[in-house]
Amino acid sequence: MGNNEQTCIFCDIINGKIPSKILYNCDDFIIIEDINPQAPKHFLAIPKEHFAFLAHCTDTQSTVLGKILQTIPQLKQVLQIDDFRIIINQGKSAGQTVFHLHFHILGGKEFGNF
Ligand code: 5GP
Ligand code: ZN
Repeated sequence: MGNNEQTCIFCDIINGKIPSKILYNCDDFIIIEDINPQAPKHFLAIPKEHFAFLAHCTDTQSTVLGKILQTIPQLKQVLQIDDFRIIINQGKSAGQTVFHLHFHILGGKEFGNF
């Protein structure tokens, strides 16, 4: 089990307690620059409502995740990306370190196959 809202770095970012470069902000989610980019373009799309894991996703939250996926391709100009890769790390062994669900959006380079 991961962090709860009280100790969540992404909730702090959403509440403005921790500064970040917010590129997109709507009622349901934000998109920020990753602090430790793994590609020339590396953003995080973060639902405003805290939940730790994809496995905990409710119907309402899955609607938000769908909205995020629908919106990202429309933000190519805002994010200054062309093609991109979207990743969710579900759980510690998969590399999840922040236990507030988020999508990684990676771009700005040629990716190989897995
Ligand atoms: P995870 O490993 O949980 O899938 O991804 C967490 C991501 O959050 C990492 O890529 C990490 O660099 C990023 N991150 C951690 N703390 C902060 C922060 O305070 N600000 C921003 N912008 N990104 C962060
Ligand atoms: Zn949170």
